[in-house]
Amino acid sequence: MESKNKPHAVCIPLPAQGHINPMLKLAKLLHSRGFHVTFVHTQFNHNRLLNSAGPHSLSGLPDFRFETVSDGLPETNQRGILDLPVLCESMPVHCLESFRDLMVRLRDLKDVPPVSCVVSDGVMSFTMEVAEEFGLPELLFFTPSGCGMLGYLHFEELIQRGYFPLKDESCLTNGYLDTVIDWIPGMKGIRLKDLPTFIRTTNLQDTMFNYNLQSMTNALKSKSMILNTFDDLEHQFLDIIKTKFNNLYTIGPLSLLHRQLCNSEPLNSIQSNLWKEETECLDWLDRKEPRSVVYVNYGSLIIMTKEQLSEFAWGLANSKYSFLWVIRPDLVDGGEEILSSDFMAVIRDRGLLLGWCPQERVLGHVAVGGFLTHCGWNSILESICEGVPMICWPFFAEQQTNCLYLCQEWGVGMEVDSGVRREKVEGLVRELMEGEKGKEMRRKAMEWKQRSEEATRPGGSSYVNFDMVVKYLKQESL
Ligand code: UDP
Repeated sequence: MESKNKPHAVCIPLPAQGHINPMLKLAKLLHSRGFHVTFVHTQFNHNRLLNSAGPHSLSGLPDFRFETVSDGLPETNQRGILDLPVLCESMPVHCLESFRDLMVRLRDLKDVPPVSCVVSDGVMSFTMEVAEEFGLPELLFFTPSGCGMLGYLHFEELIQRGYFPLKDESCLTNGYLDTVIDWIPGMKGIRLKDLPTFIRTTNLQDTMFNYNLQSMTNALKSKSMILNTFDDLEHQFLDIIKTKFNNLYTIGPLSLLHRQLCNSEPLNSIQSNLWKEETECLDWLDRKEPRSVVYVNYGSLIIMTKEQLSEFAWGLANSKYSFLWVIRPDLVDGGEEILSSDFMAVIRDRGLLLGWCPQERVLGHVAVGGFLTHCGWNSILESICEGVPMICWPFFAEQQTNCLYLCQEWGVGMEVDSGVRREKVEGLVRELMEGEKGKEMRRKAMEWKQRSEEATRPGGSSYVNFDMVVKYLKQESL
């Protein structure tokens, strides 16, 4: 029988892969420090997880349980691909109600300790209302980078200073977004096009713009937040963010902290892949020479055109390097026959195409020499943790901001233009795998790997900050 005196954390991520993964790691870390955990999925994702990862992934443990809430979307709108704007309209209303009901249910359960705190995704900050009603401390966990957060935190000022809303759609293509601004502290010389893309709107009523603006207002109200980053990497942005928050807990890279503190078996079997993982790719990698394979993955949300896919395909094929390429079933807008038979005949065993892979294990495989990525923050951190240099194709949200600093400050990335061309892809792949720039990027990536390990070791900044998170959530004096 579990002790009723245990602290009990309710953890609720935004229902998207790039938010579920880091929240699950944080939840497991809290469990390793003696917390009873209730991890909240949406009903829709719960069903998807049952299909993709199997029932064992959700059976939990006596002191690590799963619950569901509704995301408010009708069955007819339960989509294979996440429709962010629709979800962001629906959740603050429907999910809020459902979350409140859940908290009532948890209060009435006899066999679990009473809920003692809420750890909510920063972009689910409507949960603050419920935490307050129940008299519980809450910590917001924002999953973007520090540089991305600093961009979002300036949305309001960008409006006040008249940079946005855009006058009309032509501003997207006429060079206006190349305007340099020098007044955001920590981001000197940033161009408008490097800022999180949700501000590129002609209409201040735009859902994604407003949702993010509201999240920042709530974050500033809460005065505390957790970020999945480490001080050494992002101090120039974190120093500025710290001036706006009483407590900023940087506890990343969570992959490393998690690897160190959560290696017990029952916990490891708890998984969160919304797509079925194809682990056979690791055997394929075993047959390849060290650092001979380019790993290609665009994360969980991007939808690209057939033309873009085709340019990437021929760029990779013409580079003559081996590649492991994840093409989610919903990656391309329209059409089953996405890659031509000509292409398949050319690549033969040189390319392995699959729907979803165990990314962290792939990046940690000795055969992988480089990563072509969309610059999602989890992907970047996971690559840095393994010392793998990157080619960047940022698509939306704060991916553009991440790309800027990855290429210009941290020295571990090279960018492909948004209007991707096969010759450019081919050239960058060659440079990454065999050029002088590639060598220098690999050296830098190994340096960041080492520095990320230092941050997550006992006594390192992220390790110490995680202890502070535990104290805060246990409401012990800091
Ligand atoms: N991921 C994975 N296998 C895949 C593709 C992605 O395990 O084939 C994981 C990846 O390791 C990362 C997350 O999904 O933790 C994607 O998050 P990220 O922030 O990189 O991008 P997003 O999907 O949010 O755009």
